[in-house]
Amino acid sequence: MNITAAFVLGFTLTTTAILQGAPDPNWLDHDRDRPLPPVVTPSTPGSQEQPGRPPSDAIVLFDGKDLSPWVAMDGSATKWVVKDGALECVPGSGYVRTLQSFGDCQLHVEWAAPNPPHGDSQGRGNSGVFFGFGRYEIQVLDSYQNKTYADGSAASIYGQYPALVNACLPPGQWQTYDIVWTSPRFDAEGLLLAKARLTIFHNGVLVQNNVELTGPVPWIGRPPYKAHPERLPIALQDHGNPVRYRNIWVRELGNNRHKEFMLPDALLETYVGDYGPPAQWNSVKIHRLPDGLLYLSLGGAELVLHAESPTKFYALTTDVLCTFDFSGPTKTIIIKVGDDEARRMDRTTQ
Ligand code: MG
Repeated sequence: MNITAAFVLGFTLTTTAILQGAPDPNWLDHDRDRPLPPVVTPSTPGSQEQPGRPPSDAIVLFDGKDLSPWVAMDGSATKWVVKDGALECVPGSGYVRTLQSFGDCQLHVEWAAPNPPHGDSQGRGNSGVFFGFGRYEIQVLDSYQNKTYADGSAASIYGQYPALVNACLPPGQWQTYDIVWTSPRFDAEGLLLAKARLTIFHNGVLVQNNVELTGPVPWIGRPPYKAHPERLPIALQDHGNPVRYRNIWVRELGNNRHKEFMLPDALLETYVGDYGPPAQWNSVKIHRLPDGLLYLSLGGAELVLHAESPTKFYALTTDVLCTFDFSGPTKTIIIKVGDDEARRMDRTTQ
């Protein structure tokens, strides 16, 4: 076995052990120094008339009014509408995605298919909940007395796994998906280390039990995985039917030291330029490469910047924080490296 294979195998086994919940060897049985679980106020179930309430530590993605967590796939404003406390798909307007990116998480979604039903098979109440920025679909479909192929029915992993049972309610009624998503893992060279996993409850009934996805979920075929970031936006599908959504919330699991957002290109472009006196050792350049990411050039290093909010960015490999302040007469970047004092620098290019 070569070194790479040994590393990959070791990592895969470790990851699998963690996913399967092996006891953490750093703690004794009943160790009284072990931190207690954080206290969370639980969610409350909804009814047909009223949505439920999210748990206290959830990130609310749709509360019946606020559309700001959602954008079109290219980051522009979405054309989906908020009507009677629901987020409704406008056929032909395209998918919507979250501005924020998510890796491993618990996602709660409530949805309702149009009533009276229109069309049949895949044409009736079709939408979808996607992880990985459109790569992995959990089918949303009016599967109540509506025959279609099994791996395209409600709560299927599209084209891969039919639901264990059909727990669909009649069209027009509010239904719930409670989903546990585990992102696939790739190494720095793009080699697959661990496949994506999904567990799903449909209206409280287990329909997917920790299944391992074969790869992305296109209309036809099962292509292999291609490397992508662990955290990416969640999306909802426009499949030509005015499916409605309400009470959408998510709880991040695992690494969430920083939030991560996928910001529109137009916003990232506004940050590009030179900051501070030119040609000094600690002056700053913000630029973009053909990969579309935002880069910080500082002290001869090139660091990818990740958005923690629309104005705050961090690097993964170095403890650097950048905040853009364009609220005054100058365009200013505030840079903090490790323990150093934060430095403010004005932009010297337009
Ligand atoms: Mg669909």
